[in-house]
Amino acid sequence: MDEIDPPKRKISTKSRSCYFANSLALALVLVAIMATVEMGKTVGRQTVNAFHQPQVTRNSRKSRFQNLFKIRRGGSSNVALSSSAAQPSSSYDMVVVGGGSAGLTAAKFASGTLKKSVLIVEEERLGGDCTWTGCVPSKSLLSQAKASKMARNYVIQKQFVDKKTISGSSEVSEDHRTQSRANFGKDQEYFRSIQESIYEEDDSPRALEKLGIETVEGQKAHLVSPTTLSFQKGGSSTATTVEANDGILLCTGAKPNRPASIPGLTEIDYLTYEEIWTKDFGDSLPQKWTVVGGGPIGCELAQALSRLGASVTIITGSSGRLLPSVDDAQVSELMKNVFEEDENIKVVQGKLSRVEATGSTGDAGDKPSSHIAYVETTAGSESVSVEGETLLLSVGRKPNTSGLGLESLGIDLDPKTGGIAVDSTLKTTVNGIYAAGDCTGDKQFTHYAGYQGAVAARNILLPFTDPGTLGNSVPTTTFTSPEVATIGYSEAAAKAEFGENKVSVSTLNMNEVDRAICDDATKGIIKVVYSSKGKKKILGATIMAPVAGELISEISVAMQAGMGWPSLAKAVHPYPSYAFALQSMAAEVYYEDVGKLRWLYNILKKLGL
Ligand SMILES: Cc1cc2nc3c(=O)[nH]c(=O)nc-3n(C[C@H](O)[C@H](O)[C@H](O)COP(=O)(O)OP(=O)(O)OC[C@H]3O[C@@H](n4cnc5c(N)ncnc54)[C@H](O)[C@@H]3O)c2cc1C
Repeated sequence: MDEIDPPKRKISTKSRSCYFANSLALALVLVAIMATVEMGKTVGRQTVNAFHQPQVTRNSRKSRFQNLFKIRRGGSSNVALSSSAAQPSSSYDMVVVGGGSAGLTAAKFASGTLKKSVLIVEEERLGGDCTWTGCVPSKSLLSQAKASKMARNYVIQKQFVDKKTISGSSEVSEDHRTQSRANFGKDQEYFRSIQESIYEEDDSPRALEKLGIETVEGQKAHLVSPTTLSFQKGGSSTATTVEANDGILLCTGAKPNRPASIPGLTEIDYLTYEEIWTKDFGDSLPQKWTVVGGGPIGCELAQALSRLGASVTIITGSSGRLLPSVDDAQVSELMKNVFEEDENIKVVQGKLSRVEATGSTGDAGDKPSSHIAYVETTAGSESVSVEGETLLLSVGRKPNTSGLGLESLGIDLDPKTGGIAVDSTLKTTVNGIYAAGDCTGDKQFTHYAGYQGAVAARNILLPFTDPGTLGNSVPTTTFTSPEVATIGYSEAAAKAEFGENKVSVSTLNMNEVDRAICDDATKGIIKVVYSSKGKKKILGATIMAPVAGELISEISVAMQAGMGWPSLAKAVHPYPSYAFALQSMAAEVYYEDVGKLRWLYNILKKLGL
């Protein structure tokens, strides 16, 4: 084998030929909709295209919708409620359960592009985790936290400049940091306003009605048969039943994992990513936080809280590593160094074994939040205790599958992930019922949920099928400072799969990147894994850098285009951008290849060519 194929969509030879046949057939069958398709399709929080059309940005989304989509189903966005659970009150081409990234994307694609009738049934508020408890509040908080850190540094720097001649010290004392703790109530106001504006513009019944999508908010759906489902308000005895002519799409997301097995945990008023955004902390953030879990959510929130002035201890979990899902121990070690040296975060490597409440229960029976967390360290049998005022539990997310009636219809769960089992087209074990996004137990990202939503809608509503599971070609980013992003194979995974001598790696430390030196952000690394032979196709990358999320997108495009790693050198990048580092890394490989052919060039030159 000379050339290794990078991890694009995993399509078997059979399904690949089918895939091209599908594309051809679609081109013929769907001539009527191609004009719309050509102009790009906008789908939910993401712009994801089941037919590989160019994506459009969020900013241009609104005007594109206004220009492109006529409202197909006018009138109220509410379904006429019937009191009979047996007789469907209305029928739709597709009914979507759950209005988060996957469900919204699916519905917008189906209604906007394919002009199909769609109903979304949402148990809470449309928008899902991304708008209310995930990406939007967490990235808004991180942005405030960054500003807070910069402001504090500015004040301290100024003090240093003023006092330099007297004390000569520029040390930031821990007291100063925690005394200038943020008023979290103000932060909450800030990100709530962002959430509301995103909701109003993209997710709300009013916004969706403009696209011809009918919605039901605040009602839980339950499957009745492979073609019907009912929904009702919590506590209500009357249910509405609707019919789906082409298919039902389950997009019910995930919930925080709350392990019942940790002794003492339920005795304290702990928080998860579901509660932290709305919790009333009064004027000031609690001072001492214990963050349990060193995954992306734990790391992002630990850094945000610390930058807002809290004293934070993060307990990694049994792997002993920060960001253990990144298959690169060097990155985990670098992140630990950043947290400890630059971010005032204490890292405890081990697993939470027990929690003890240290405050007393309030008059109203409310539990205390102050605690001692006991940790079994990974270093040995040593146990460490961590005292805190507030405990944030971030130990993973579990697919949301309960109360849907899956079992009675014979819809299987994946025994490994606990998610709804789907095949590569996102079909469940029951014909006509599909699932997309976090509820499948696959990778949990908004962009992937959106992608899957669009593909599932396409597979429900159009002939033939497209693949909806992308394996490791989904880019991931943790938005800490510096960010950590991955795509495709890690070095270890590529070598294990293809063999040591078939895989090469380009590595560049951030302290060799001019822009990082200018920004004083030299802790980080770029690793690009590529095939040693042939075109030297890119197999994957791991990047820890201030803008790793942007850099990984360039690698994603290069991989999708099937580019060889050295050929990236031919695309001129502006200096001193972080992306320039990618070009210079690729150039090294490019010139190494040129160097190997020196003898040939010398002969050709002598021949006068
Ligand atoms: C703190 C945090 C930060 C994150 N940051 C990022 C990030 O930066 N980038 C990124 O890509 N991803 C991020 N994620 C992950 C991202 O939010 C999820 O992957 C994404 O929201 C999944 O979309 P979904 O449609 O599958 O599920 P959801 O968005 O969770 O939507 C599921 C919806 O289904 C509804 N529902 C459930 N059961 C029923 C029922 N029976 N009837 C009716 N409705 C029902 C729920 O109420 C919910 O609204 C983050 C997550 C968290 C928690």
